[in-house]
Amino acid sequence: MNDTKPYAMNFIRTLVTEDVNNNKNDGRVVTRFPPEPNGYLHIGHAKSICLNFGLALDYHGKCHLRFDDTNPAKEEVEYMEAIIADVRWLGFDWGENLFHASDYFHQLYAFAVQLIQRGKAYVCSLSAEEVRAYRGTLTEPGKNSPYRDRPVEESVSLFQKMRSGEFEEGTHVLRAKIDMASPNLNLRDPTLYRIKKVNHHRTGDAWCIYPMYDFAHALSDSIEGITHSICTLEFEDHRPLYDWILDELAVTCHPQQIEFARLNLQYTELSKRKLIQLVNEGIVEGWDDPRLPTIAGIRRRGYPPSAIRTFCERIGVSKKESRIEFEMLEECVRDDLNQNAKRVMCVLSPLKVVITNYPENGFEELDVPNHPQNPDMGTRKAPFSREIYIEREDFMEEPPKKFFRLAPGREVRLRSAYYITCNQVVKDPATGEVQELHCTYDPLTKGGGSPDGRKVKSTLHWVSAPHAIDVTVRLYDRLFTVPNPSGEKEEKDFKAFINSSSLVTLTSCKIEQGVKGIGPGSSLQFERQGYFCLDEKASAEGEMVFNRTVTLKETWSKIMPKRE
Ligand code: ATP
Ligand code: MG
Repeated sequence: MNDTKPYAMNFIRTLVTEDVNNNKNDGRVVTRFPPEPNGYLHIGHAKSICLNFGLALDYHGKCHLRFDDTNPAKEEVEYMEAIIADVRWLGFDWGENLFHASDYFHQLYAFAVQLIQRGKAYVCSLSAEEVRAYRGTLTEPGKNSPYRDRPVEESVSLFQKMRSGEFEEGTHVLRAKIDMASPNLNLRDPTLYRIKKVNHHRTGDAWCIYPMYDFAHALSDSIEGITHSICTLEFEDHRPLYDWILDELAVTCHPQQIEFARLNLQYTELSKRKLIQLVNEGIVEGWDDPRLPTIAGIRRRGYPPSAIRTFCERIGVSKKESRIEFEMLEECVRDDLNQNAKRVMCVLSPLKVVITNYPENGFEELDVPNHPQNPDMGTRKAPFSREIYIEREDFMEEPPKKFFRLAPGREVRLRSAYYITCNQVVKDPATGEVQELHCTYDPLTKGGGSPDGRKVKSTLHWVSAPHAIDVTVRLYDRLFTVPNPSGEKEEKDFKAFINSSSLVTLTSCKIEQGVKGIGPGSSLQFERQGYFCLDEKASAEGEMVFNRTVTLKETWSKIMPKRE
């Protein structure tokens, strides 16, 4: 990764710095990012990834990538592969430290037996329903299970039989023996293991009991020598259980769990469960639909990884829940692309202009800068000829007062080319639709400047008609019409707020031929239109498809004169 600027201070960094200064854990910092492979990663995960990997980088420590694959029914190999690709794309490297909680199944089992032997866990034979009824509520204490005081040997033996497949699902579970009256429901003898006769994609049919998240997670952290186990706030109430498990087993490594507020983003959803619905119900085109906040979607949309890292840094880390404005993310993307994206001209909705005083079959190549502020990015040759395309909305036959672009009798500048004046409007006699414009150019204004200091109020982008190539352009907008789709009171279903115009596809857009051969995923600024990215997946043999990543700044208002 090449961002060298230091990460902003936050309460977690302060804490870790103190630990390092006090030589806690011999001054080591080992963090981990522990996704459950039951969906694709989204920008919320990116916050956690940047935090965990960022800490490791800053303190010369390590960050592990660990798949929390303890729930076999839900996990799929596709998700693992996508997660690996996504973390890498974000610019982070776990080196040798790629782990799976399933790697520890034997160790976890041994730990469970140990807990039973210490009198701290027991096999409970209540049904799931009974367990629930015995648990009590937030205001009422729970009741002890009748199996709670079962002899240790009996629990050990039952647990072994659970493991060897002698019991049906739901007949027994292993529970921690903590406190059924605890105000914290997580401590009311939580389940540690359940029977699940399901194949696991890594361990096959070796196991028919699987550990619960809290048990597997705390011990996986400990086994890996994690020093700081960073998670989101919903796990705050699980921390006492995390600590209880590690204390009761007297493990040598007892990581410190630290919670922070998860990222929420306006106009989108960051819950795997909801994203899965959008994908499975065909509301979007897949996990990598550019409208989704998934890393795969964002990548296809053209958001650069560096912009995501900047965003994660700007939003900071705290304990306070909030919903970040979508504009903040877009601003990070714009700032990044503004510096790095080459400019090209692409006409999205073409209107033909015939330059009547330009020689028939005439042709020249004009030098056009690739970046207005950065001469190092060089120039390119743009062919110019007698017939060009301009944007249909850059012409009005009867312009209102504040419309400064092309109109009958008016002169405008073509970017890096010439001044042209509109003399004649050719219309379809049947529909009255404008078909083409006849203009004249001033050869003395080559390059876009006038020797006599004559001013024009507008600069248009254009493409030479015989040289242009046809491309498809997809204009993406927000996926939802409201900032908090799940938080709307009247409507229950977040899908009621899908933005029906979140995708508009334009075909036969005209782009400079110079873009031919650019790499997939390349980002360009289409002058005056926004930033666009070549979609590798959608582009077919000979046909290029561009996704709009983000529009230009709001100040590029449609009706104002365009700046050079
Ligand atoms: P979901 O609740 O949507 O199912 P999850 O939190 O269960 O997501 P995991 O795969 O368990 O997904 O997440 C891996 C890590 O990413 C966890 O440490 C989790 O705390 C963190 N994470 C998930 N969502 C966010 C978010 N919106 N903001 C910050 N961190 C997040
Ligand atoms: Mg989770």
